[in-house]
Amino acid sequence: MEVKLIPYTLKLKYPFGISGNTRTETPVVFIKITDNNISAIGEASLPPYLGYKQNDILSVFNSFNFSKYSISDDKRLLSDFKKHSIHCMPALAALDIAINDWVSKKNNLPCWRRLGVNSDLMSANAMTIGIDVPQVIEKKVKESTAFSLLKVKIGSSNDKELVSTIRKYTDKPIIADANQGLKTREDALEMCKWLFDLNCLLIEQPLNKIDLASHAWLSERSPIPVIADESFQKFEDIEHIKNHFSGINIKLMKCGGIGPAMDIISSARNNGLKILMGCMNESTCANMAAAQIAPLADWVDLDGPFLITNNPFDDFIMKEGKIVLNQTSGLGLVLKNEISLF
Ligand code: MG
Repeated sequence: MEVKLIPYTLKLKYPFGISGNTRTETPVVFIKITDNNISAIGEASLPPYLGYKQNDILSVFNSFNFSKYSISDDKRLLSDFKKHSIHCMPALAALDIAINDWVSKKNNLPCWRRLGVNSDLMSANAMTIGIDVPQVIEKKVKESTAFSLLKVKIGSSNDKELVSTIRKYTDKPIIADANQGLKTREDALEMCKWLFDLNCLLIEQPLNKIDLASHAWLSERSPIPVIADESFQKFEDIEHIKNHFSGINIKLMKCGGIGPAMDIISSARNNGLKILMGCMNESTCANMAAAQIAPLADWVDLDGPFLITNNPFDDFIMKEGKIVLNQTSGLGLVLKNEISLF
């Protein structure tokens, strides 16, 4: 098999404001794998908090001898690559995504169908409204007509003003993400009650990721589910957080791809955890990969392509607020003509 690497920078439509920082672009690395005359694509997204740069991903791939492997032997390939990368999850996710695309194309099936996922069970997809001034919030809400669910980034000093501004323009249900930005468990409980009254369905990561005890305290009292994002990265973390949160936010870049995400979903269900299928700043490639298994989740938050201006692929299709899983074999990605990538 052959592997080609393409570093790329996703430009964000709006400066991405979350509790703690703001940025205008996100580095990614696309990979293209070819074997048996079939090519497939994967993506590693590298937001600062994952701690990897593009060069880290390039060196992990460039120092692995892919010519020894065939993609048909995907289990051995992924397992050897995982050890080689020292558990570099974005690199592993990129390879896992491309392999899923490749194997599905080889079997002439859409990836979701090959994985036994029922596309009818897809939930509404959430569109993120980052922390911003009221005029921009109004514009963002008005741009979200294709969505029936909004995600609000909270954890700054004017959370109530922000949510109230959104409520002036829409009564669509919301989900809230605090990115560890709330100060105390009592503040968080008061916020959860306030949000519940405004038709908010859940809150993500209200408090510091290491403060599991406060999250457990809050989960017991909150009228809305408390979902672990920063506190939950990969399969092994389920054991540590399962008694402290109501559910988990699964992202392919945190856990290493579609295969690991499916293992997490099955274990999370056995432990009574709710599931949010989320994403980093990603193009259609990594988002469409997550969408293949999103019908297994309670909530879906895959809005990456809608937050960037230079997506190399066509956006995915939304119908009645949900991502449409198409019938094309593989991940169903279509490169835009005007952006040459490979
Ligand atoms: Mg989050």
